[in-house]
Amino acid sequence: MLNFEFTEEQEQFRKILRDFAKEELLPHYTKWDREGITPRHLWKKLGDLGVTGLRIPEQYGGVGADCLTTGIAAEEIGRGDFNLTYSVMLNALIGEILTQHASEEMKNEWLPQIASGEKIVGIAITEPAAGTDAGGITSTARREDNEYVLNGEKSGISVATCGDAFIVFAKTNPSLGNKGISAFLVPSTVNGFEAKGYEDMGNIPIGRGSIYMHELRIPAANLIGQENQGFSQVMNGFDLSRLLIGLQCVGAAMQSIDETIEHVKIRQSFGRPLATYQAVSFPIVTHHTQLELIKWQAYRGLWLRDQGRKHSKEASSVKWLGPKYSVEAIHECLLLNGHYAYTKEMPLEQRLRDVIGLEIGDGTAQANQMVIAKEIIGREFRTHQTQTV
Ligand SMILES: Cc1cc2nc3c(=O)[nH]c(=O)nc-3n(C[C@H](O)[C@H](O)[C@H](O)COP(=O)(O)OP(=O)(O)OC[C@H]3O[C@@H](n4cnc5c(N)ncnc54)[C@H](O)[C@@H]3O)c2cc1C
Repeated sequence: MLNFEFTEEQEQFRKILRDFAKEELLPHYTKWDREGITPRHLWKKLGDLGVTGLRIPEQYGGVGADCLTTGIAAEEIGRGDFNLTYSVMLNALIGEILTQHASEEMKNEWLPQIASGEKIVGIAITEPAAGTDAGGITSTARREDNEYVLNGEKSGISVATCGDAFIVFAKTNPSLGNKGISAFLVPSTVNGFEAKGYEDMGNIPIGRGSIYMHELRIPAANLIGQENQGFSQVMNGFDLSRLLIGLQCVGAAMQSIDETIEHVKIRQSFGRPLATYQAVSFPIVTHHTQLELIKWQAYRGLWLRDQGRKHSKEASSVKWLGPKYSVEAIHECLLLNGHYAYTKEMPLEQRLRDVIGLEIGDGTAQANQMVIAKEIIGREFRTHQTQTV
């Protein structure tokens, strides 16, 4: 039987978050961008609502929600403040990795603080010479007695300037390629850690930047999971973050469409509301339709994940087209609102800048198309047999 209905509890959760996003997030969305601030108090507030701990089990202070419910949060928070959706997506990814692979001690120390929104933890894979080809990283971690010593540079990392810790990927056995990568929990307070922020086009409150590790020493217990298993541990997590990213972009774009529909019903030209001209209504219809398609593909992917079934192809399709269709929709909305929307008085220009970032972050269009090609055409037809995506 096919059932597209959310449960009553999920619908209630959606309503709570939609009201919260409208009343408490949307009015200040542009403020954090203008002031260049990470609103940590709102991460904490989202923690009180359970949003930051959705994929963290109850025994570690989280909500233990399913992936579908997590998707609802990504979509609804995206309507209010796109940058705060990182508290859903990043925390779901980090929450799953730590829950599945970290030691009991690490889980007890970090998960409750992540779930409450008190601590922000990022993920550091990308390097100046290794983005799409993530297996090509050159950061190293060498074991010395009861410690690991990390060296290298990470680039493009979300929450670099405000994160309390990072899951850092480094090579423990460089001769094994992507099978020689391990993951470590690195607090940003340790000696040898340095972060520098970027002057980004958007996503300003996320504090993206580079992380430098110079003879950075952490206890051996900070290894997450098995040595040399880091890559396979995180790749599965990306199937979740990619579905959530699609929904957070759709949330921001649908909010833009709602605002634009209100505008074109009121604004007149040549004595009639703009909405009566099909050259105005049809583009809105086109974008709305495209976004609905992405939305249901995303929820289908999340449902498959909840059932423990394969969903990499679905996740990549959503990550590829979700941000793209959302950017196109927001751009059109900006134009339909006329010159005023080109000012910083309205949130549309910021939404456009913010959402473009996630056309790149977490895998570009091409990276995601490679995943789909591998599945529908075959592994043996990949360009590079050592390819990592
Ligand atoms: C907003 C944002 C947030 C981010 N957050 C994080 C984070 O928290 N942690 C983290 O580790 N990284 C993060 N990143 C980095 C991101 O994951 C990388 O930028 C991304 O994987 C692409 O890598 P790159 O920028 O090095 O581009 P490259 O890999 O150099 O690619 C450049 C271009 O070439 C294309 N290309 C590359 N290889 C191929 C190929 N084989 N075939 C066809 N086309 C190809 C790409 O699609 C792209 O268009 C973030 C980036 C952004 C923009």
